[in-house]
Amino acid sequence: MDNLALQCRCGQVSGRAIKVTPAAATRVVCYCRDCQRFANWLDAAEQTLDSWGGTDIFQLPPARLQIHQGHEHIRCLRLSEKGLYRWYAGCCKTPIGNSLKPSVPLIGLISSFVSDSQAELKTGPVCARVNLGGATAQIPSSLISAAPSRSYLLRLLGKMASWKLRGLGRPHPFFAPRGEPISPPQIIES
Ligand SMILES: [Zn+2]
Ligand SMILES: [Zn+2]
Repeated sequence: MDNLALQCRCGQVSGRAIKVTPAAATRVVCYCRDCQRFANWLDAAEQTLDSWGGTDIFQLPPARLQIHQGHEHIRCLRLSEKGLYRWYAGCCKTPIGNSLKPSVPLIGLISSFVSDSQAELKTGPVCARVNLGGATAQIPSSLISAAPSRSYLLRLLGKMASWKLRGLGRPHPFFAPRGEPISPPQIIES
């Protein structure tokens, strides 16, 4: 079990993910258009998207993501009225992560907010590449076969059920105890 150091590009927002091991979470690369839109809207595509438009996301329970500094810089974007809550550091427009409503025990931590030099070792390899239809270029088949999306969803749902049972949905770094977001979401419709 290890901690993963987190920091925005300019350093004003920082924190850590705790109890990180490859088995303790799921690491996926998402190629959906909304993840790309989020990165592009922040002008952060270069630091966020891989060569095929993918966002590298480490999925962990809320209680294991801690923000220690810079809460006041955290901002929220939703790409539609009911879209994901997409969190970023307003100071330097670094994507931080995604979440659903506060009762869902899941946060997707985006690699652009991970500053740990040992990150690859601690989080392990990508276990699934998902929403391949949104890829901006042909993904090498070797990458896809090494991280098939088949069975990934079952694995994630299993983890979420166990996180919920173990009370790891709280505290949530982005929602106050009564459930309101720490920063009011800005909603942009396409
Ligand atoms: Zn910053
Ligand atoms: Zn996505």
